[in-house]
Amino acid sequence: MIDIDQTRAGRSELLGRTNELANDFLDRVVDRPVAQPVEFDKLLAEMRAEGLPLDGDDPKQVIEQLANLADRAVVATAGPRYFGFVVGGSLPVAVAADWLTSVWDQNAAFYAHSPLAAAAEQISAEWLIQLFGLAKSTSVGFVSGGTMANFTGLAAGRHALLAKLGWDVERQGLFGAPAITVVTSDESHVSVFASLQMLGLGSERVVRVPADDQGRMRPDQLRSVLPDIRTPVLVCAQAGNVNTGSFDPIAEIAACVREHPGWLHVDGAFGLWAAASPAQRSLTQGIELADSVSVDCHKWLNVPYDSGLVFVRDAAPHQAAMTLNASYYVTARRAERDGCNWVPEASRRARGFAVYAALRFLGRKGIAELIDRCCARARQMAGRLAQAPGVTILNEVVLNQVLVRFSDPSGKDDDEFTAKVIGRVQEDGTCWLGGTMWHGLHAMRISISNWSTTEKDIDLSAEAILGCAEI
Ligand SMILES: *Cc1c(COP(=O)(O)O)cnc(C)c1O
Repeated sequence: MIDIDQTRAGRSELLGRTNELANDFLDRVVDRPVAQPVEFDKLLAEMRAEGLPLDGDDPKQVIEQLANLADRAVVATAGPRYFGFVVGGSLPVAVAADWLTSVWDQNAAFYAHSPLAAAAEQISAEWLIQLFGLAKSTSVGFVSGGTMANFTGLAAGRHALLAKLGWDVERQGLFGAPAITVVTSDESHVSVFASLQMLGLGSERVVRVPADDQGRMRPDQLRSVLPDIRTPVLVCAQAGNVNTGSFDPIAEIAACVREHPGWLHVDGAFGLWAAASPAQRSLTQGIELADSVSVDCHKWLNVPYDSGLVFVRDAAPHQAAMTLNASYYVTARRAERDGCNWVPEASRRARGFAVYAALRFLGRKGIAELIDRCCARARQMAGRLAQAPGVTILNEVVLNQVLVRFSDPSGKDDDEFTAKVIGRVQEDGTCWLGGTMWHGLHAMRISISNWSTTEKDIDLSAEAILGCAEI
């Protein structure tokens, strides 16, 4: 049973101690092994303890034990030498804002819950629209991540295309609906197909346009398939290939889509951040022509999970695809922003605070510098590795992603040796990175997307990687 007085009285000490534990963790995260072997059965046994307690445990003990286990069993994705997937570490100011979000227990569904959360979303949205060079009228939804941002953008597109054919998909569903055709590239991210699957559009009922050697959708191929499609098209392009970091030629793709009744969605989960840097912006040329765009803040803006955004140029289909039609909600309608009008959820975390805090802390220059610095570190890593014998960099390093392939000491270049090197690096603990398949070849994939990665981190990591490759 909760003793209300005692729980209140213990709160200050509990949160004070938690603050110490959090700082301890972050102090050590720089130098500890990035990943350590975990015996999962043992971990489960420790966490199960004596089973779900009848009377409840002391809160301080619960937190101490979790913090203790974290030292052994969380991967240091928050640290400067985690290069797996595309995972940014959190900026301290974003962590601080995220802490307060929890303390305030804010629900960003309705303005009525939290005027401050509505303001944080609205202002962050305005700033990001400016930063990315999107149309001023663009509407923005704060979702859990890139997957739901893609889902929301594609749902808005589904609405708009079917509405033009006289079909209200939200009311009537897809049974008996006029056809639309989804066009993806061979290199579209899995989350696009997952979204299509959830939207009833089918992950395989798509026309796939071939990509070039860097994974960019080929506009000539798009141009050649469109005339044979007799229905409106929902085209899914990409800013930032998850392997190579390459960009589909968005301006050219947009021009093709303009000639055909269609909707252009761009998955910019991490790559859209290039638009915030004058030095990288040209990669995203034409982004303002997209009908919907997704981006992750938990990737390159370095805010805590979960934080994705969807931008839709025309607010009407966005809202039509997402609005809840609950009877109790009608009375809550007002001019102020109700966050739930733009996302597939109602109650949800007030994600705007961490985004707002990170944007203000970095400023326009700081954001550009963060993006440029990560790109420079990626080039540094590629350059350092490429000098060694037996190492091939498989991609043009245009952004923050590097694909590496290794030959064994006898000169044999096979999947097995590259996989072995990846396994050894993961065990070594100096840095962490994963493997991928690129054009039928096993490759090491390195992503630099953390604010705290220094040149020295790259040197240390490159040395460890080369050591694991016996070079
Ligand atoms: C990470 C990523 C996604 C998915 O984003 P989540 O935040 O993991 O849901 C989609 N597309 C691309 C290109 C990505 O890199």
